[in-house]
Amino acid sequence: MSGDWREAATIGELYEAIKDCRRCSLGQTRNNLVLGTGDEHADIMFVGEAPGFHEDRQGIPFVGPAGQFLDQLLASIGLRRSQVYIANTLKCRPPDNRDPSPEELETCTPYLFKQIEIIAPRIICTLGNHATKTLLKTSTGITQLHGKLLHRDGLAYVPLFHPAAALHKPPLKSVLIEDFQRLREHLEAERARWRREGEPEPEPALESPAESDEPEQMGLF
Ligand code: SF4
Repeated sequence: MSGDWREAATIGELYEAIKDCRRCSLGQTRNNLVLGTGDEHADIMFVGEAPGFHEDRQGIPFVGPAGQFLDQLLASIGLRRSQVYIANTLKCRPPDNRDPSPEELETCTPYLFKQIEIIAPRIICTLGNHATKTLLKTSTGITQLHGKLLHRDGLAYVPLFHPAAALHKPPLKSVLIEDFQRLREHLEAERARWRREGEPEPEPALESPAESDEPEQMGLF
């Protein structure tokens, strides 16, 4: 590592400080450390589990089929990937896409917390069980929490099923599509609260989803 990652003030500085990290064994098997992508000043941050095959190859989170599905879900509520920030709990791919171990999560999550400190989002959407349990410090699973607006330590959270899980289990796909509409409602409610409290209107403003983004694209999956 070059420099102390704890001192990083930007995502670029954080990446430079941890790009050669070998603090856990995943550092030996990864092709690329995958830190995150999107607007570094976003109000909305999505946190998934860990890089997969495509992400490890490209160094960018959510670029495979699950990423394409996430892009379509974002479009369904009038958002583009460039308007949010997307990261994972673990920064390196577990071999064969196995679940992260508790030790790997414990070792790597300080980087995620530093990322959250730099980006300072207003709402964090946790994607799947690992991100939800890690960030909300709960043992309650995603099945009970999905789609709900929760507040912890001054931040708003909306747990959601992971897009990859939804692609593998078709009944979850419609749940996730519905939860994104609930996310839209939560965002509007939060923005109304911020206005009431005299805080500046955050960007990006929600747009109406483009007509071509709606059922036709969702029907691809
Ligand atoms: S998973 Fe995290 S802690 Fe492990 S090597 Fe990668 S960046 Fe370092």
